[in-house]
Amino acid sequence: MSDFDYDLFVIGGGSGGVRAARVAAGEYGVRVALAEEDRYGGTCVIRGCVPKKLMVFASGYRDTFEDARQYGWDLNDGPFDWHIFSGKMRAELDRLEGVYRNLLDGSGVDKFDARATLKDAHTVTLSTGEEKTAKHILIATGGRPVRPEMDNAELGIVSDDIFHLDKLPRSMLIVGGGYIACEFACILHGLGVDVTMYYRGGQILNGFDDEARGLIAEQMRARGISMHSGASVLEMEEREGGIWVKSTMGQDKIFDKVFFATGRRPNSDDMGLGDIGIELGRNGAIQVNEYSQTGVPSVYAIGDVTDRVNLTPVAIREGMAFVKTVFGGEPTPVDHEIIASAVFTQPEMGTVGMSEEEAMAQEPIEVYATSFKAMQTAFAGRDDRVMMKLVVSKENRTVLGCHIVAPQAGEMIQLAGIAVKMGATKEQFDQTCAVHPTMAEELVTMRKPVRTS
Ligand code: NDP
Repeated sequence: MSDFDYDLFVIGGGSGGVRAARVAAGEYGVRVALAEEDRYGGTCVIRGCVPKKLMVFASGYRDTFEDARQYGWDLNDGPFDWHIFSGKMRAELDRLEGVYRNLLDGSGVDKFDARATLKDAHTVTLSTGEEKTAKHILIATGGRPVRPEMDNAELGIVSDDIFHLDKLPRSMLIVGGGYIACEFACILHGLGVDVTMYYRGGQILNGFDDEARGLIAEQMRARGISMHSGASVLEMEEREGGIWVKSTMGQDKIFDKVFFATGRRPNSDDMGLGDIGIELGRNGAIQVNEYSQTGVPSVYAIGDVTDRVNLTPVAIREGMAFVKTVFGGEPTPVDHEIIASAVFTQPEMGTVGMSEEEAMAQEPIEVYATSFKAMQTAFAGRDDRVMMKLVVSKENRTVLGCHIVAPQAGEMIQLAGIAVKMGATKEQFDQTCAVHPTMAEELVTMRKPVRTS
């Protein structure tokens, strides 16, 4: 019997922490405790992916109803009722939080509904005043949205607040051009909000394939979102009728709400980490090695608090790799290469591997791409275009990147991602018979490169 209260103390009950805790306790039979200061499920379940995706579905019905009429259905226009939807959404989140709590209980994990800080390499202090010791400590405290540093920034909401709005605003300014800004611009526009976007760069979705993000921007504009590149907020004030905003474009305007989607920061503040020798990097990210181990050997960290690849499935994999390494006797580094992901804009983007620009900087490439009107939306009279693109190494024919802009692109890229991760060549894509009639069949029928470098 060890001298510690637990073999593992996990701080943070989000996707990564809960997975690590329940696998360590349930599959490896070690004594585990977990502390969570807020709600179980973390960002993904409570204030991120899950409620966001429900809002994506809610918002998408606007197009579905319009298209249905084009297909011959007799439907009457009715307003969207935020009250009904948000009530159901909150009930669903309560249910999911219950599932997370039950998973921990079922695995025999001791739960502490408290904030935890580190006293030393093996001791956790809880906000209840208790102290617990553990052979290993895992920090999985995630991140939080940040507002830019400017006067009156608190007048703007952040993504956490969106799910708690009493009513939908008539107009909203979204500041930022990343995942969260673009997804919510599309969601809120679909729900009937008059959306304006200010982003400081030349184009939205920095870092993604240029052609893909260009097409998304074009279609967001075509849908009626007012998008402004090179635009930043200079001043904000609460005035009659809403929030007055003065921008770098020399304009001032009043919006019902301003939403800062200007990035996230790791939750590592005031946890006593520096005092016990844990190194924090840029933005407070906990520095870890390939096994998610900090410079203090008994303390590990996974997920957004390490600011590596900030995606739920990555945090879960980091948690699983940690458990295997520490309790399974199998040192397992985390593989952060070739991770497929989706941006739930309208249209959606699915992406895996390198963008054309990244690949071109690395080696000579061929680009196979096609853009067309999809059968379903074209029949409904829409001008929407979809895009399929493969970036191929000239030297060994490997598909280095696959980028899809289309309805359900997230579903498609999960499957294309397997082939790309396996190192499939363009010729292996071509040997795969098309599934007809689908949009994704274009991925295996593009014969000639549109560009080479
Ligand atoms: P991102 O880093 O993606 O985007 C932040 C945006 O804010 C960028 O456009 C950035 O501009 C801009 N910005 C940053 N600071 C300022 C400032 N001071 N003033 C004005 N603009 C500013 O962050 P998000 O918050 O959108 O998302 C955080 C992370 O969450 C993502 O990186 C992703 O890992 C994850 N996520 C994933 C989703 C998915 O998988 N579908 C959905 C939502 C989030 P610039 O580009 O010029 O730096």
